[in-house]
Amino acid sequence: MRGALFLLTCLLVLLAWKLSSNGRDHSPPIIIFEGSHAFNLTNLRTPSSREEIVDIVNEARRNGRKLRVVGSGHSILPLAISEGITLSLNKYRGVVRVDLGAKQITVKAGATLKEINTALDSHGLALGVLSCISWQTIVGAFMTGTHGAAINHGNLATLVVSLEMVTANGEVLRINRDDELYNAAVMSLGMLGVITEVTIQAEDAFTLREEVTVLTLQECMNQFHNMTMSHDNIKMWIDVVSNSCLVSSADKVKDHLRPFPNLWWLNLKMHMFEMTQWIITMFPQLTGQLMPSIIGTPLFFQPNSRVGKSYEIFNVPFYESPQTQQELALDIKDCVKSVEILHQFVHSNKIPVNSFIELRLVNSDKIWLSPNYNRNSCHLTQIIYRPSTETFNQYFYNYFDLITAFHPRPHWGKNFNLTKSYLSVLYPKYEDFIVTKHHLDPSGIFTNSFLESLFTN
Ligand SMILES: Cc1cc2nc3c(=O)[nH]c(=O)nc-3n(C[C@H](O)[C@H](O)[C@H](O)COP(=O)(O)OP(=O)(O)OC[C@H]3O[C@@H](n4cnc5c(N)ncnc54)[C@H](O)[C@@H]3O)c2cc1C
Repeated sequence: MRGALFLLTCLLVLLAWKLSSNGRDHSPPIIIFEGSHAFNLTNLRTPSSREEIVDIVNEARRNGRKLRVVGSGHSILPLAISEGITLSLNKYRGVVRVDLGAKQITVKAGATLKEINTALDSHGLALGVLSCISWQTIVGAFMTGTHGAAINHGNLATLVVSLEMVTANGEVLRINRDDELYNAAVMSLGMLGVITEVTIQAEDAFTLREEVTVLTLQECMNQFHNMTMSHDNIKMWIDVVSNSCLVSSADKVKDHLRPFPNLWWLNLKMHMFEMTQWIITMFPQLTGQLMPSIIGTPLFFQPNSRVGKSYEIFNVPFYESPQTQQELALDIKDCVKSVEILHQFVHSNKIPVNSFIELRLVNSDKIWLSPNYNRNSCHLTQIIYRPSTETFNQYFYNYFDLITAFHPRPHWGKNFNLTKSYLSVLYPKYEDFIVTKHHLDPSGIFTNSFLESLFTN
């Protein structure tokens, strides 16, 4: 009788939780993060040729209208929201050419990472680094500084060899790595023009072996430098409530492919976890009991190992749930200290953190608006499931304030709360970017009020 009652309660909780989840529309643009803005699709244009794109830009300029390009719409803040025309390159995609000698692929700008992975694989090539999903468009990814987890690799923008861009006056520019404009254009959040084509550097296809180990937070931090320096790719998922740390390393190997044995089990665990998170949002006072009883057990964080094609290992079996994130790029030397501060901050303020902190490393670059500009970086991502406004502000923005001395640079595709005066401190090339923006787009076609509040002088 008791067993049946327990089962019934579980079923009711599951049902209530499912009903409370939002339905999601998967037609592009796809909007993933909870609380993300809505796209006004009444002025949506979907050109299928470069000539059409040039015509639309000319039309916007002549009529004094704003124009923003949307990729897959995965960014949390209103980067791609337009107060005039919304341009989707969903019908302007596909491979233009593959140069096997140079190991480079040229694609139209609407191509997704997934399409690029598949095309490269069929030619025995692959991207050297990748984010944890491949649903995004390649341009949306490099425009926001999307990255992977390899200290020997920069973010995805550093793979761009050249790009083609339609500027506000309808001119088509081809920009190569050596050009002065390259470091401004390759991560410009769509403010300098519409990217129409891009050539990406690939390498020979490779296999990765992923090893998942479980440590305590203390062990993880003590071994941070050794671990991060001894693997091709490494990421850490930390639960600050239960003090557990899952380390996933991935190294190039010649082994035979060996997929995860229990994908269904992984999915089931993710559903159980989401249900726990949902309960915590209603009873935040239970965080301290519930997180350790799920995440802190061997049931959830389990050692594992698999061997797969690079892009299969780079991409985590991602379970889509209504969560939101703040991601900060810090100097690697400040990484452990920042985690310690976060740990103390969460515990002393009893913040109901119901998800992980993720750590990943990214090599430095010379791209003007890059979070990795001139700095080998540790990316600290705070993830939280359906936070209240108070928890959201406290967990993200109060923590940000606590570590400002480390000059954390936010991921452009995630949450942040910055002013332009602060941006000019964080990005040494901020003023040069503003000058370039005014030069290429004097009447500010390619902007919206959100970006205008951050990028004007
Ligand atoms: C589930 C999930 C997992 C993620 N994992 C990672 C990860 O592992 N690592 C990481 O770093 N990030 C990650 N992100 C963040 C994500 O990669 C970025 O938000 C990225 O910008 C999404 O690409 P998009 O195609 O959706 O771009 P959008 O959000 O649509 O656009 C981003 C920006 O690019 C501009 N843009 C797009 N196309 C063009 C064009 N053709 N010309 C000019 N401007 C253009 C837009 O105007 C906008 O400013 C993740 C996001 C989600 C939702």
